[in-house]
Amino acid sequence: MKAVLFHKHGDPHVLEYTDFSTPEPGPAQVLVRIQAAALNRVDLWTRQGWPGIKLKYPHIPGADGAGEVVALGPGVTRWTVGERVVINANLGCGECEFCLAGQDNGVGKANSRDWHLLGETVRGTYAGYVSVPARNLYPIPDGFDVHAAAAAGLVYHTAWHSLITRGNLQAGESVLIVGASGGVNTASIQVARLAGAQVFVVGSGVEKLKLAEALGADYLIDRSKDENWSKVIYQLTNKRGVDVVVDNVGTTFPLSFRAARKGGRILTVGNTGGAKFEIDNRFLFGKHLSVIGSSMGTLKDFATVMDLVFAGKLKPVIDHTFPLSEARAAHERLERGEQLGKITLAVSD
Ligand SMILES: [Zn+2]
Repeated sequence: MKAVLFHKHGDPHVLEYTDFSTPEPGPAQVLVRIQAAALNRVDLWTRQGWPGIKLKYPHIPGADGAGEVVALGPGVTRWTVGERVVINANLGCGECEFCLAGQDNGVGKANSRDWHLLGETVRGTYAGYVSVPARNLYPIPDGFDVHAAAAAGLVYHTAWHSLITRGNLQAGESVLIVGASGGVNTASIQVARLAGAQVFVVGSGVEKLKLAEALGADYLIDRSKDENWSKVIYQLTNKRGVDVVVDNVGTTFPLSFRAARKGGRILTVGNTGGAKFEIDNRFLFGKHLSVIGSSMGTLKDFATVMDLVFAGKLKPVIDHTFPLSEARAAHERLERGEQLGKITLAVSD
């Protein structure tokens, strides 16, 4: 099969488009012929590497993918060859007490490696074929575009788990989303709107704010004009603050704490601004704030969110589609932050 892989960490030039052996489906696994893969920031971080990361080289990145079932491993009865499927990249062990309780998204035992993200620590979807556990597939209805399915996977799943499952977002609440560009943030705008919340977005750049508005944001705050956006939120909410802040930047927590109402929730699934920063603890207890972290989502969240995507209630925005052979250019585009929506790879017809 054709695949995009790397033998060492580095800039986009370490990515090679080459031939690689097609995987075999193991017990309880299904072999999927990938038609579309979608990029996520984790693909860039995996390529760049971080202290302690251990990969089996060559490594194939890619968490998101959609295509068709081509072979079933021993013991698989649920799928049939030819079915169109989208992949849930959360590879829980399926056996530990947490997976059995429905928390299959890596809650697990401390330091255990019984959870993997497809394409991060195991070979992923930038390839003609990938073999994944049967329970990680979800059927794509006839006529639904494979690229939209692949683009929806990780970001809507993550946004749904954070806002709805963990954040318990309710109709009529107000939500501030910090950042207008990233895939999870754009998905969060739509999830919040669907939940019946009022949505504030702080971002920079006319194009990105326009997209946020098109996705349903009620109030747009241009960070380049209003650096102290927590003050703007304070004014827009009649000195009340918002019920929920979605902050996947991290370093912006001091402003998010100010923008939240007393008793508000701060939701986070990422740290695009850097891993470490200072917080003023007085805001946390003095304002009765809750900080709620999560990562990815559960099998149940995936089914719920994909049904909403297939019903047209959540609409993935696709920025650009590159052929698999141009994955390097796709990484460069994502790295430059030029994209408006998801970048996908056309792997096969
Ligand atoms: Zn488990």
